[in-house]
Amino acid sequence: MNEFVRVEHPSGTPLPVVFDSPHSGSVYPDDFGHALDRMVLRRSEDAHIEELFAHVTKQGATMVHALFPRCYIDPNRNEDDIDLDMIDGDWPGPVNPSAKTIDRGVGLIWKKMRVQGAVYDRKLSPAEAAGRIKNYWRPYHETLRQQLNEAVAAHGFAIHIDCHSMSGMGDAETEDGAVQRPDFVIGDRDGTTCAPEVTACVVEVLRDLGYSVAVNYPYKGMELIRRHGRPHENRHAIQIEINRSLYMDEGTMAKTEGFLALRRNLETLTGAICALCDTLREERADAQ
Ligand SMILES: [Zn+2]
Repeated sequence: MNEFVRVEHPSGTPLPVVFDSPHSGSVYPDDFGHALDRMVLRRSEDAHIEELFAHVTKQGATMVHALFPRCYIDPNRNEDDIDLDMIDGDWPGPVNPSAKTIDRGVGLIWKKMRVQGAVYDRKLSPAEAAGRIKNYWRPYHETLRQQLNEAVAAHGFAIHIDCHSMSGMGDAETEDGAVQRPDFVIGDRDGTTCAPEVTACVVEVLRDLGYSVAVNYPYKGMELIRRHGRPHENRHAIQIEINRSLYMDEGTMAKTEGFLALRRNLETLTGAICALCDTLREERADAQ
């Protein structure tokens, strides 16, 4: 067990449902060495997400969350998604920067934060960057994989819900531009990371609760669901992005009045996701 990755186990009978919150961590490691102001950096956190989903363990699900901040190293990028410009010296591993790294500087290790500027006033040593992968990124994925493996071993399938929050508005650098965002964006990488009934369930429940919901735009899901969602192996993964304006002040990061109502509604949503296990179990029984 890694001190920067926490697993909350279900209190009742365990269901094969694993939630993860990769971006709500706020324990800044001593060796971060950033130049940008800490409060500015903190705006990259998906603040309060693990608390909004804390109830899921009472519904039979497991919660995995990262305690380290995503701008230090991001579990939702591939480990080769590196900008060599940031590294002082030769990088020993493979390099395959994504568009988010090249265009916006928000790759595996963040280079800059929107208009606020560069995260560092220095380059990172290869050993420093490799240490973040070894000590944070890999333990996070390994822990998540282990929880999903245990679910599949016990039940024959698993549902993985990757939980995030997004700014209330896009900006000039984001795919959607400077527009108001819907309440939720659900991502299944264009239908490739879970069975269609998982996406349909999440979208329907949220719309019934009165929320505006977009699917696969402007966020379709990144490395976490790409890596862990394999529906043909009965591993279903889906990403949920919640609009921060529903529950927090984005400037101060303080929770707003909307927090409690949102948490109640998320309990309805996660209850429906847990109930989906019966449907998937029946379908498996029928198919055998
Ligand atoms: Zn996120």
